[in-house]
Amino acid sequence: MKDISSEVVICGAGMAGIAAAYHLAVRGGVKDIVLVDEREPLTLTSNKGTEAYRNWWPGPGDTMVRFVNRSIDLLDELARETDNCFQMNRRGYVFLTADERQIPVMKENAAETSALGAGPVREHPGSTPYTPSPSEGFEGLPTGVDLLLSPELVREQFPFVTEDAVAALHVRRAGWLGAQKLGKWLLAEAQRAGVRLVRDRVTDVTITDNRVGQVHLRSGDCIKTDTFVIAAGPYLKEVGAMVGVDIPVFNELHGKIALRDELGIVPTDTPLLFWSDPIELPWTDAEREKLAADDETRWLLDEFPAGVHFRSRMDGDTHLLLAIWTYDIEPCPPVWPPTFDPDYPEILIRGLARMIPGLSAYFGHGDRAYADGGYYCKTRENRPLIGPLPVEGTYVIGGLSGYGIMTSQAAGDLLAAHITGGELPEYAAAFLLSRYEDPTYQTLLEDWDVTSGQL
Ligand SMILES: Cc1cc2nc3c(=O)[nH]c(=O)nc-3n(C[C@H](O)[C@H](O)[C@H](O)COP(=O)(O)OP(=O)(O)OC[C@H]3O[C@@H](n4cnc5c(N)ncnc54)[C@H](O)[C@@H]3O)c2cc1C
Repeated sequence: MKDISSEVVICGAGMAGIAAAYHLAVRGGVKDIVLVDEREPLTLTSNKGTEAYRNWWPGPGDTMVRFVNRSIDLLDELARETDNCFQMNRRGYVFLTADERQIPVMKENAAETSALGAGPVREHPGSTPYTPSPSEGFEGLPTGVDLLLSPELVREQFPFVTEDAVAALHVRRAGWLGAQKLGKWLLAEAQRAGVRLVRDRVTDVTITDNRVGQVHLRSGDCIKTDTFVIAAGPYLKEVGAMVGVDIPVFNELHGKIALRDELGIVPTDTPLLFWSDPIELPWTDAEREKLAADDETRWLLDEFPAGVHFRSRMDGDTHLLLAIWTYDIEPCPPVWPPTFDPDYPEILIRGLARMIPGLSAYFGHGDRAYADGGYYCKTRENRPLIGPLPVEGTYVIGGLSGYGIMTSQAAGDLLAAHITGGELPEYAAAFLLSRYEDPTYQTLLEDWDVTSGQL
């Protein structure tokens, strides 16, 4: 058993804890930091996602757009500094519809999000030609959104997409990156600046006179500290309880699949593609009859909500489609390892085939797709918690839901500013735990959708 001391102890070496360590140590000059995790860094949730980012966020207000724009600014800086070692691209997200009635909705969303600071709206056909995104690189590209408002334009750009698609909305300050590469680089830099990584579990925290004093580890070691940061991902609530604070978050299990596009149906340089209409899954008459006969499977004939989407990943020479569809999400306690509905991959393939009919070649291949995923740790309005907690010296960085990779840099930067007394950005107050004490905020929450901003 060892007794050590440290200026800051961070519990959790996922993307949030590592970003916090990097911003504190490398940019904030706090050298004496211990980062504790019982697992290999970045292996619980932070290696399970699609690693995508976008500055396309709804209100109320411009808080999320500002926050994500700041994070993308920082990602751009890091990419320049490292010769883009984490392979960030700016291919964008393309939202597609086959429903004419969605066109005014798309236009309205574009105008609203543009007004929040996401960049200009360009309509096509229009005064400027549409420029497709390059497959690599992130510099010198348009921001905002391009609206492709004729079926011909959609076909011209995306000839593999269903012929009945009538419009597309292309978000430009968006794309994806290598989260493991980014996280490992940030961790190495933090360690070079003095951060010590300890493989252990935080089991308890001693609080005296409402002040943090010691962090206890499963090994029996004990770390004396004035500053304790909770970056425990889906275990935020459990670790919060160790300092006597009820952190108001819950978890949802989200799965993704990796489907090998062996037949080369989808070009490898596509943006992230998202289908914006509800879908009835395509089944043969015989399949329909069989599904309808069983109470357990009849739901597969129901209409599924909009939102099936995917992005490309090259794994050596293999083209993978990383796909997600959140059609039946419920709050649940985190159980590790998580399990997924065995039908999920087949449902996803059938949903994707509505957008890209050629993918029907993979019907029945669900068992060949690889399914994994993890927990979105969320607040009730799907906004993060970043900043001090009521016990002096304790902080939280979490509730990062399905956006913890894209927002990691602004989140780490903000947490470091809280701890070092740096200048706080305008959005800082919106992410404090104390926001829930504000009666005006409580009123806003009454009509706030828990899936706000979630794809
Ligand atoms: C299917 C899926 C798709 C996603 N897609 C995207 C995307 O496209 N873009 C995006 O930005 N985000 C995406 N996300 C979300 C993103 O992955 C998460 O928001 C992010 O990884 C959360 O990071 P974290 O550090 O808070 O949590 P985690 O990565 O879970 O890290 C928490 C760490 O805390 C440690 N820990 C917990 N309790 C203790 C303890 N008592 N002692 C020691 N260590 C402890 C755990 O071991 C773990 O390593 C996706 C997530 C999923 C599941």
